[in-house]
Amino acid sequence: MIREPLIFEISDEGKRAYALPKLDIPEKKDVLQDVRTRKDIEGFPQVSEIEIVRHFTRLSQTNFCIDIGFYPLGSCTMKYNPKINEKIASFPGFSHSHPFSPEELVQGNLEILKTTEELLSEITGMDAFTLQPSAGAQGELVGMMLIRAYLEEKGDPRKIVLIPDSAHGTNPSSAHLSGYRVQEIKSNEQGTVDVEDLVRAMNDDVAALMITNPNTLGIFESDIKKICAIVHEKSGFVYMDGANMNALLGECRPGDMDVDVIHLNLHKTFSTPHGGGGPGSGPVGVKKVLDPYLPIPVIERRKDSSLYFNLDRPKSIGRVQSFYGNFLVVVKALAYILSLGPNGLKEVAEIAVLNANYLRKSLEGEYHLKYKTPTLHECVFSDKFQKEHGVQNIDIAKRLIDFGVHPPTMSFPLIVHGALMIEPTETESKKDLDLFIEAMKRISKEAQENPEVLKEAPHTSYMRRLDETKAARESVLRWRPEEKEAPQNKE
Ligand SMILES: *Cc1c(COP(=O)(O)O)cnc(C)c1O
Repeated sequence: MIREPLIFEISDEGKRAYALPKLDIPEKKDVLQDVRTRKDIEGFPQVSEIEIVRHFTRLSQTNFCIDIGFYPLGSCTMKYNPKINEKIASFPGFSHSHPFSPEELVQGNLEILKTTEELLSEITGMDAFTLQPSAGAQGELVGMMLIRAYLEEKGDPRKIVLIPDSAHGTNPSSAHLSGYRVQEIKSNEQGTVDVEDLVRAMNDDVAALMITNPNTLGIFESDIKKICAIVHEKSGFVYMDGANMNALLGECRPGDMDVDVIHLNLHKTFSTPHGGGGPGSGPVGVKKVLDPYLPIPVIERRKDSSLYFNLDRPKSIGRVQSFYGNFLVVVKALAYILSLGPNGLKEVAEIAVLNANYLRKSLEGEYHLKYKTPTLHECVFSDKFQKEHGVQNIDIAKRLIDFGVHPPTMSFPLIVHGALMIEPTETESKKDLDLFIEAMKRISKEAQENPEVLKEAPHTSYMRRLDETKAARESVLRWRPEEKEAPQNKE
């Protein structure tokens, strides 16, 4: 194939991507002199309109996305999000609404925020929500801050947060950033929290247990009520990482399991794509005791039923976000929840679980499954069988790219070596699941017969294997004219 020219190579002096009519007024030079334009950048490529369109269209095609193919990146819930919710969020009344607008002019938007808080409370069984945090990780941090504020006020500041060894990396980071010492709780042979280990670790210095349910192996922590009781007995809090809420929607509620604090990822479960650097939202739900500590402003209703931002909350941990979080992500979530309704949400969870179990059953003999416990919305295979032929999870993941599939998650849970965490979500058809199963079986066969083809994969993508360490350490995030050399495809 002839390589497509890069935009840097087709620049020609004087080419323009626009055509303006001749001036019919006197030309004024340097009108932009006092405007803050970038003086440090000169020498942009000079190209025509079609060249620039092709450049950006090609760039957009070098990346994988859910609109192109199957994206089973476990724990990330990369489901297809209905385009109509994007459309709704783009209505001018939402997208042009200025955050400094007086409350009386944006009552509708406040109503959207308030309704979403109430519906999330209903879905999770919590008493109140804040929509301010803009990511799951920020939600975790806010949850830890709420617990700390409560305990400090009671004159019982504690030092430790317990976290199971299967947790997502953000959990220990958030606890640590909030000033707590992280202590690991072991998983048992079933892949769930080792209750004995928890009993041993739980004492009067433990502020909270952070638990993910279903956990990152996709397993439901069936001892959750007992676990909460153990923590509560010593006056600690239970924080639930609700990033996997897609598996529970409409089926059961963390609040009913006696969880005290939870975060959700609207950009996973509720109709915003996860990853890719776009805006997110990680709302935090609490039980009544923690309500006074929620970040300000809190949206409250006056006697005449109008809504306002209440800043007068003396126990609040303060602001955690400018304005009020990522409003348009909330709009999409509300549109999604209302359009599906309670039965639709339940169906989401059921099909997500069904799809994951279909994949699990179909691949069980072909790929090693460390934990045999039944799983919900995802399952974690490992590369143990393929390692006998020198093939690792990264080789399997890269080969999947050749079959039009995004690689599964490999970086965690740390308790499964060579992990392949697969989450199909509810939006894939049986036909697409079958194509994935076929690809995985073929890869397993290739591992035995022709491992080289896996080690050199991907073969069909625009870029081959990247040096990820170099990319992270010496990242090139924008083109600079002095670097005339275009980035080279690593062959
Ligand atoms: C995605 C995820 C998080 C973090 O959410 P971000 O929005 O990426 O910060 C935390 N825990 C689990 C289990 C997750 O899957």
